[in-house]
Amino acid sequence: MAIKSGSEYFERVKKLKPNVYIGGRAVYRDTLELTTALNVTKLTFDVAFQPEYRDLVVTRSHLTGEEINRFNHVHRSPEDLLKKQEMIRVLAPRTGSCIQRCMSNDVLNALGIVTKEIDEAKGTDYHGHFLKYLEYYQREDLMAGGAQTDAKGDRSKRPHQQVDPDLYLHIVEKKRDGIIVRGAKLHNTSASYSDELLVIPTRALTAEDKDWAVALAIPADTDGVKLITRVTSTRSRMECKAPYNEVAGWADSFTIFDDVFVPWERVFLCGEWEFAGRLALLFANYHRHSYTGCKPGVTDIVMGACALLAEYHGVPNAPHIRDEIAELMVLAELLYAAGIAASIKANPTSSGIYEPAFIYSNAGRYLAGKNVYHEYDTLCAIAGGLPATLPAEADWLNPDTRAFLEKYIMRNPKISAEKQHRLFRFISDFSCSAVGGVCQYAGVHGGGSPVMELIGIRSQYDLESKKRLVKYLAGIED
Ligand SMILES: Cc1cc2nc3c(=O)[nH]c(=O)nc-3n(C[C@H](O)[C@H](O)[C@H](O)COP(=O)(O)OP(=O)(O)OC[C@H]3O[C@@H](n4cnc5c(N)ncnc54)[C@H](O)[C@@H]3O)c2cc1C
Repeated sequence: MAIKSGSEYFERVKKLKPNVYIGGRAVYRDTLELTTALNVTKLTFDVAFQPEYRDLVVTRSHLTGEEINRFNHVHRSPEDLLKKQEMIRVLAPRTGSCIQRCMSNDVLNALGIVTKEIDEAKGTDYHGHFLKYLEYYQREDLMAGGAQTDAKGDRSKRPHQQVDPDLYLHIVEKKRDGIIVRGAKLHNTSASYSDELLVIPTRALTAEDKDWAVALAIPADTDGVKLITRVTSTRSRMECKAPYNEVAGWADSFTIFDDVFVPWERVFLCGEWEFAGRLALLFANYHRHSYTGCKPGVTDIVMGACALLAEYHGVPNAPHIRDEIAELMVLAELLYAAGIAASIKANPTSSGIYEPAFIYSNAGRYLAGKNVYHEYDTLCAIAGGLPATLPAEADWLNPDTRAFLEKYIMRNPKISAEKQHRLFRFISDFSCSAVGGVCQYAGVHGGGSPVMELIGIRSQYDLESKKRLVKYLAGIED
């Protein structure tokens, strides 16, 4: 069967070579530090077996007709894109933040389109390689880390202008049976517990940059790959266990390619520099479309927390709080609506894969990125200072101090001290913590910094027609 369980996935990745470096040690994937991150990714497999999620998570491969996990699907209709978006909105908030597996789906879709377009223009056979790879990937129900962001060095310079050519991943040798690449990709979420790495360029390239035009797939423990990894996990609990503290976490890697060999059948772009920008932007388009699912899901958590806070404080009808919560509703649903629009107005490509309508996915993602801190600001303002000063769980559990904490945490007398405590400890863990801080950065930069969405929108928007409109209204004739 092509659908695997979370434990089958875990059994696979724990056998990979220990090329993950955490806190100064090389470790296997079953290291304790990766537990919460793995709990999230295991969930993406296990939901395929749960009847309430089946319709969202299970679909059929267009290659084999077999049932597959939707995270491994290439979207062949607007309905497919709508389903992906809905799946992410439903699943991401269950993990408290990032569902992590959309990245690989977004790279697969972008590769599916661009490999076909390169073949049409150049007579290559990248699409054939890609389809064989996709069939294997779907059959084994694999998970991949998406590796796009290069180190980039001096931001004002192109790859060939950098003092160190390795600051963008590049081809160092072409051989009969494959290529050798060197460089690094940064910030790679889930690379350290994925089966595979999917690698694509960061940006548009010029003819002088052709050695940097490379896309490929490799097993995550390929010789020469080192994953230098920073883990982000929730605080652990002693006795006040809560789902958020079990499944909210991830890890991001500096992925080093120290002269890595890649066989030709796993190479999808090799020197065709004209297609690097198309591939980079297509991936960004899919990834921003995925954000129209996960980001409203995170806003769902923020607005739920604000509404509960108002109740627990005893001020559920305070007009300023109701307005702020209504504003969160607007933000969540406008972003979701942008994703729906991008799906419905998606464009077919020659590969048969549908590409989300760029303006809508980018406008939605921009709105989300610009409002991340505003949303946490709203939560912080409504929460008051307690998430920052709440005594440790050990003090809550200590009989010498428990009664005082229960007495003085009280607000609305209809809500028990235990519930008040649980809500504030959750909000502290969610927003006033290392995880909260990293989530805010991720909300701004994941899928590209806000300025990148503006550049993208500007490049594709028909501003000239708006100028013509005003000339018409103003009676200006050129
Ligand atoms: C938590 C998290 C997870 C991530 N996961 C992944 C992942 O799984 N895979 C992956 O590939 N990437 C991932 N990313 C990377 C993300 O896409 C990048 O952070 C983002 O594209 C910005 O790139 P950067 O961090 O290098 O910032 P920079 O490129 O340094 O940009 C920072 C700012 O510098 C300015 N700037 C940069 N370049 C220029 C220029 N040429 N001209 C003018 N101004 C400029 C802009 O104001 C920009 O906003 C992740 C990031 C985060 C924070």
